[in-house]
Amino acid sequence: MIIEVLVELSTRSVDKTFDYLVPPQFVDKIQLGIRVLVPFGMQKLEGFVLKIKNLNNSKYQIDELKEILDVVDEEVILNEELLKLGKKISEMTLSTLISSYQVMLPEALKARKKIKINKKIDIYMVLNKNIEIPILKNENQQKIVDLLKRKKRILKQELNKISSSSVKTLMKNNILLEEQEENYRLKQEYVKKEKYPLTKLQKKIVNEVLESKDQSKTFLLHGVTGSGKTEVYMELIEEALKNGKSSIVLVPEISLTEQIVSRFRSRFLENIAILHSRLSSGEKYDEWRKIARHEVKIVIGARSAIFAPLENLGMIIIDEEHTSSYKQEQTPKYSAIDVAKLRSEYHSCPLILGSATPTLESYARAKKNVYHLLEMKERVNQKPLPEVTIIDMNQEEKRKNSHFSKILLEEIKNRLEKHEQSILLLNRRGYASFVSCKNCGYVEKCPNCDITLTYHKTSGMIRCHYCGYAKKLLPTCPECHEEAMTSLGIGTEKIEEELMEVFPSAQILRMDLDTTTKKGSHERMIKSFQNHEYDILLGTQMIAKGLDFKEVTLVGVINADTSLNIPDFRSSETTFQLLSQVAGRSGRGEKEGKVFIQTYNKDHYAIELSRTHDYNSFYEEEMKIRHELNYPPYYYLTSIKILSSDYEIARVESNKIGEYLKNNLKNSTILGPSIASIFRINNIYRFQLIIKYKKEEKLYDVLSLLIEHYQSNSKVKLDIDFNPIHI
Ligand code: ADP
Ligand code: ZN
Repeated sequence: MIIEVLVELSTRSVDKTFDYLVPPQFVDKIQLGIRVLVPFGMQKLEGFVLKIKNLNNSKYQIDELKEILDVVDEEVILNEELLKLGKKISEMTLSTLISSYQVMLPEALKARKKIKINKKIDIYMVLNKNIEIPILKNENQQKIVDLLKRKKRILKQELNKISSSSVKTLMKNNILLEEQEENYRLKQEYVKKEKYPLTKLQKKIVNEVLESKDQSKTFLLHGVTGSGKTEVYMELIEEALKNGKSSIVLVPEISLTEQIVSRFRSRFLENIAILHSRLSSGEKYDEWRKIARHEVKIVIGARSAIFAPLENLGMIIIDEEHTSSYKQEQTPKYSAIDVAKLRSEYHSCPLILGSATPTLESYARAKKNVYHLLEMKERVNQKPLPEVTIIDMNQEEKRKNSHFSKILLEEIKNRLEKHEQSILLLNRRGYASFVSCKNCGYVEKCPNCDITLTYHKTSGMIRCHYCGYAKKLLPTCPECHEEAMTSLGIGTEKIEEELMEVFPSAQILRMDLDTTTKKGSHERMIKSFQNHEYDILLGTQMIAKGLDFKEVTLVGVINADTSLNIPDFRSSETTFQLLSQVAGRSGRGEKEGKVFIQTYNKDHYAIELSRTHDYNSFYEEEMKIRHELNYPPYYYLTSIKILSSDYEIARVESNKIGEYLKNNLKNSTILGPSIASIFRINNIYRFQLIIKYKKEEKLYDVLSLLIEHYQSNSKVKLDIDFNPIHI
């Protein structure tokens, strides 16, 4: 047998396949998509089997071929569907096939990974059924036998606690036998719950999906926060299960998986695998094996869970579809929604995109009937949406070191007295966003990036949020040597400190990237807030979406302007989404909820319309602006970044590329080259070109040629992003 193998060459960004011979002992294991270990020059490399050939259709003679060294996988990881999908992704994103296959694999199974992950095996002891068991003189031995007569099967390590020498003797005498069983690492507790009877509207929506003629249709479920979307998802999945079909559910944030998974577990019990980046390698490996061995029919996870090797998909659900994390920021820069559409077509199964604040692109598609629009305009049982108050910080009396308006402080105090919970949002971590000298104006910047350093008070360090550079903050200015260094701007750490000063007895839980580095920390924090061990949950956008806490009656936004001031054409949209989402965390239980938003831009439409929960007016308003400026959804964008450690080379090459694009893409507008929003990251200079178009048939060909041209240029790297989230 001869196989064609796609190998990963770390030095070049090109795809290479080579033919290898399969020695007889491996022939049975070879399948398309399985990984093999092959000799390559002096190295051993892993690669994917792409074709199975015989001597007649290989262009090589048998003695010209080398033999493979081993078969890496026990089960095929990339089945026929996923092999095709990888090819599509590499075409859609203009990245290599090998990088597309790599991105589809779970971290734990990736090539070049040094540690080998093993199955977790539990050893049980059972009685030998084929012999008559005598009465035993030894007390411990008899005890063990009696136990096993009652319990049939007991973990060996448990019996060893009684007496390991007795276990040994019983085994030697053939009275006890060993049974091995693969065990999974990730343990999940759950209580089975009866489902709610669906409301009329929920039923109607479920039926609309199930009865749709086109079964590979994309549905946009636009439902206000708390309208019962999750119950609709579960019902749809149950219907898929009834037909023997499997489902994928994507959730936007790891902090959200805990709540969603526990809701799903109470209904679907063990029929669920979980995939996200914060599982240990061993856990990920196990969850994948559950899927590959067809032991589960539901997969819940973050972006890459869209590649779960489920067969016979019956439903794909993407919750909070507007979330930017569904787009991968590294190569291959794929969008999980695009991948979901391909899988939905392949399996002829519905794709549900759910959100209270869909992206403009999605909503526009729904309005044009490209997607089927489903709407839930009210909360379950007509519970009102929370009342939102905008606080104009320009009118607030300036109080030293305070970032709270009087009214927000009053409301927090009031909740503490009533023993109700509050959520406070500030979308910026750290203590202060920059540090400067009061005497000479010197500002601490990253030596590797064009960005100010953020002060983290707990560690006493100033850090770069882009490259990770960090150093101690010293009181003296490195420039003028005066003891005048001071920190400005706010972050969650400073707000936490301020809260502790004002409310010394309040229990405050801060949740941001800095406090959630430990494994399992998201889960623990969400659980303990749910159990009311804390009064206030303070955090960045990771606490804004999807969470369902019944006792939260107050949501406060410390500064709505952080996202509004970002120079990006989507900044109004992301601000409106963030405010609407976080407002939706209030008043989800019996008690009415309130929301207070602090801002210096109270008249901005994104802020004003979030006050009235008016998605549709926001949509209309923002669409006008996008239309005027020729931005998405009216036009498509593709961004090309030109990266080099040499400023002059980056500048010259971006001008050349700009010319090339202008000459070859006649149906597009080419913007730039200009310097990218952050000009230098990790000592790499970044120029950017933006291609704007409605229809540009030559785009892929023109860009492919460009990539080919720069492939051998070690000084310049191109970074191409179709439909970028940020520009
Ligand atoms: P969403 O996902 O739209 O935010 P959820 O599905 O979380 O909404 O529902 C909001 C709240 O309403 C949840 O606490 C949920 O348990 C409850 N709920 C949803 N559907 C029903 C129903 N049919 N009957 C009673 N309660 C429901
Ligand atoms: Zn840096």
